[in-house]
Amino acid sequence: MIEKYKKNMLRDTLKKMDTELNDVVNYTLDIHGKIHFMNDYIGKQIKIDWSGEVICGCGKKMNSFYRNSGYCYKCYWESPLASQSIFKPELCTAHLGIEERDLEWEKEFQIAPHYVYLANSSGIKVGITRGTQGVIRWMDQGASQAILLAEVPNRKFSGDIEVSLKRFVADVTNWRKMLSGEPDPVDLIKMKEELSVHVPEELKQYILLDNTVTEIRYPVNKYPAKIKSVKLDKFPVIEGTLLGIKGQYLLLDEDRVFNVRSHEGYIAKFSHQEIAQQGVLF
Ligand SMILES: [Zn+2]
Repeated sequence: MIEKYKKNMLRDTLKKMDTELNDVVNYTLDIHGKIHFMNDYIGKQIKIDWSGEVICGCGKKMNSFYRNSGYCYKCYWESPLASQSIFKPELCTAHLGIEERDLEWEKEFQIAPHYVYLANSSGIKVGITRGTQGVIRWMDQGASQAILLAEVPNRKFSGDIEVSLKRFVADVTNWRKMLSGEPDPVDLIKMKEELSVHVPEELKQYILLDNTVTEIRYPVNKYPAKIKSVKLDKFPVIEGTLLGIKGQYLLLDEDRVFNVRSHEGYIAKFSHQEIAQQGVLF
């Protein structure tokens, strides 16, 4: 990737957790030069302590991001990472040689294999992902099952397929539902067959014959009963018992959930602690 634009790969900030598909998803958090194996902290106390500052990928420090975007004002309006086609892939134009913000970057980002997939996280949804990101994207979204539907040569085509299927299935995850338990299983192979009919004719050639369904389980001891989302802007110090991890959410005691990904760029300290045994204390 062109290194000119980076997103919050800074050492002392929260970043989305890295994931690895195993019996349950393995999560690691990389902060202050230390790799935390988060699964080991389930059942233990964790603490996130925000400094009050955030830092944009360009290096600018602030008290808050512009429009909660994860970017400073300048990057929000000028960086290709924050352009319209990032959120609406059907608006991509690099394959036609048309620049949105930086054609060189956009060509590298957009003219590469992309997948359209179906996933079941809170019910069925359609989504797109870059070639190498497949399973990582599903784990980040907290999907329990997923199947690839098509492989296309650029981002624009994946956006076109997604738009054609959005009429029938959701394209966003209902995160409250995703965090409230495991979704009912869906026959994704059947869904793929039914939805493939609605792929635009000229793009049908990209539908994949492989019908492998990926099943994903998460390390969760207890799901929240009544979800309360906590954010560092309101609670600069968040601590409690970690009860599980799903998607990019830490599930804490008192039905609290903390979205690590939406706090990327927050300069914070992270620590964990064994819970003191009552018997030892008294
Ligand atoms: Zn910036």
